[in-house]
Amino acid sequence: MRTPLIAGNWKMYKTIGEATALVRDLLAGLGPLADREAIVCPPFTALAAVAPLVAGSQLGLGAQNLYPEAQGAFTGEVSPVMLADVGCRYVIVGHSERRQYFGESDAFVNRKLRTALAHGLRPIVCVGESKPQRDAGQAEPIVTAQVRAALVEVTPEQMADVVIAYEPIWAIGTGDTATPADAQAMHAAIRATLADLYGAEIAATVRIQYGGSVKPDNIDELMAQPDIDGALVGGASLQAASFLRIINYQ
Ligand code: PEP
Repeated sequence: MRTPLIAGNWKMYKTIGEATALVRDLLAGLGPLADREAIVCPPFTALAAVAPLVAGSQLGLGAQNLYPEAQGAFTGEVSPVMLADVGCRYVIVGHSERRQYFGESDAFVNRKLRTALAHGLRPIVCVGESKPQRDAGQAEPIVTAQVRAALVEVTPEQMADVVIAYEPIWAIGTGDTATPADAQAMHAAIRATLADLYGAEIAATVRIQYGGSVKPDNIDELMAQPDIDGALVGGASLQAASFLRIINYQ
């Protein structure tokens, strides 16, 4: 009942030429995707060049961030109206790099998420604990509190468009992946939180991705877990061969 979503977060990598070359290679290697969805999230500068290549294809388009206003005097920012206009369907909000390096609070992440929804974008909201938090046994309360904070004033109807990405911070870009069992336990805790907020029926429909050093050699085991509904992939989404293998998980 949940269509798994594999998303490539290219972060601050790829010029326009590199981005279009990668998308061409992905499209050339991608067969029909009957039971899963795949998207790429290039940097802002490459969105307009990538959009016509993926239009009508089996590859979707997302952005990595947005500013939570439709327009205005916000120098350097990009609005949800602009993202929809360029062809984005998804947008990542609350990535740990934004929380950590740009000081984004839970309240600001919630504002971004609600603004994305109001403009017809599907937010992929990232949550995750740090290593000291995990070592202190605080991973679950921290993550479930982030989920609750991100979803303040989000209606049950809107949850059809929300994707949650569980990304333990210590696993991002480190080569250290959560074990499938640890990831599954956290995904189950997140789903239980969603059930508490919206009821079991809606909770069962929300896609929860895992992110953190997802690679061709660990994707199959992660995707075999009952509550893991896709992956948010950084480093391994930057080369066609590795991202195609992840999209084609068994
Ligand atoms: C990410 O950027 O969301 C991520 C999970 O990165 P990586 O796959 O490189 O750990």
